[in-house]
Amino acid sequence: MSSENPPSGRQVRRAGSTRLDSYVDRYAARTQGMTASEIRALFSVASRPEVVSLAGGMPNISGLPLDVVAQALHDLVSEHGTTAMQYGSGQGDPVLREQICDVMRLEGIEAHPDDVVVTVGSQQAVDLVTRIFCDPHDVVLCEAPSYVGALGVFRAYECDVVHVEMDRDGLVPSALRDAIATCRAQGRRIKFLYTIPNFHNPAGVTLSAARRAEVLEICREADVLVLEDNPYGLLGFDQEPIRALRADEPDGVIYLGSFSKTFAPGFRVGWVLAPHAVREKLVLAQESATLCPPAFSQMAVSAYLTQHDWQGQIKQFQEMYRERRDAMIDALEDMMPAASRWNVPAGGFYVWLTLPDGLDAKAMLPRAVTARVAYVPGTAFFADGFGAQSMRLSYCYPTPERIREGVRRLTGVIEDELEL
Ligand code: PMP
Repeated sequence: MSSENPPSGRQVRRAGSTRLDSYVDRYAARTQGMTASEIRALFSVASRPEVVSLAGGMPNISGLPLDVVAQALHDLVSEHGTTAMQYGSGQGDPVLREQICDVMRLEGIEAHPDDVVVTVGSQQAVDLVTRIFCDPHDVVLCEAPSYVGALGVFRAYECDVVHVEMDRDGLVPSALRDAIATCRAQGRRIKFLYTIPNFHNPAGVTLSAARRAEVLEICREADVLVLEDNPYGLLGFDQEPIRALRADEPDGVIYLGSFSKTFAPGFRVGWVLAPHAVREKLVLAQESATLCPPAFSQMAVSAYLTQHDWQGQIKQFQEMYRERRDAMIDALEDMMPAASRWNVPAGGFYVWLTLPDGLDAKAMLPRAVTARVAYVPGTAFFADGFGAQSMRLSYCYPTPERIREGVRRLTGVIEDELEL
């Protein structure tokens, strides 16, 4: 429909908007809060071949055995095609749910397949959990910074995000205690703490073992549910998988997992492990959202897990990502101007870089893109406008040589800014 002839018969331009949206008066109130993430807006630029993108967090699946996957998909269609292409259970395929329990056992979780709900990626799991728990203005406690995709969900359900400080060891327990006390003193309802304990997106840090116990204790005492989002847990570089929060608190933790980083994101298979009563509501929510998660994708993942050495594949992923992490850290150490700070992640995809005082990563981005390097400004990961001095750098996708070149270009941009 052309903007000269909007359905409302009026032309409406929202304050601060440069685009006409003639439907603006028709949207639900919650839709007004939906805006394209800064990452999405960047993708078109960052995907140009001349740009070194340290922006997106796309898993690097170039090492997957495509011949094995192709054979498994072929067998799936020829042997189980009518099931694989049919509707399935709203809770998800029972065979896959058992395999998911085997995967979670690596992190100390003992679970029953009945308590697992398969979702369309863990992104949908965040959505379903928020849908069943949150009314407008309910508080969701989130780390500062937090995963941009989860913040988008919380915004869509009109939750109030309250950020809780992190440091090199992850969420700071005293800050969590204070945030809970402050919210309660203000008469606000806290629905859950959303946390990414392992190889955090975007901060790169991991919650220490001592703090895991403390965080659980604080939430238990304050009767706050924990939403543990753990897509990167098996991608640690230097150690065995870390014990999940859920392993020690089956009733107080809802756990989210995903095959996006340990296999491939294109199948869109993730899951929720929830206390039994909550699981019932999640299945109802899943049925109203999608009827059922896609049978074909679930059976494909299930076949991959059965027919392939998936744990060996994860080890290969770990090695590849560790090499890239090292390339990024070495480049930062060699080139970055003094007064820039960053962490050394022990797994996952991300480094959080804080610029020298006075610099603004968001304002600098157009100049960085002109210099053919892209990153995500820190403000994307805060619900409250903070994070301007920081940025997320992803090392997962480019080759080590490209990472070094990207850091070289970025250093040039920062040095120019410092001279201005
Ligand atoms: N949670 C976190 C912390 C993530 O980083 C991502 C993907 N970037 C997701 C959830 C969603 O992953 P998926 O839907 O592919 O499982």
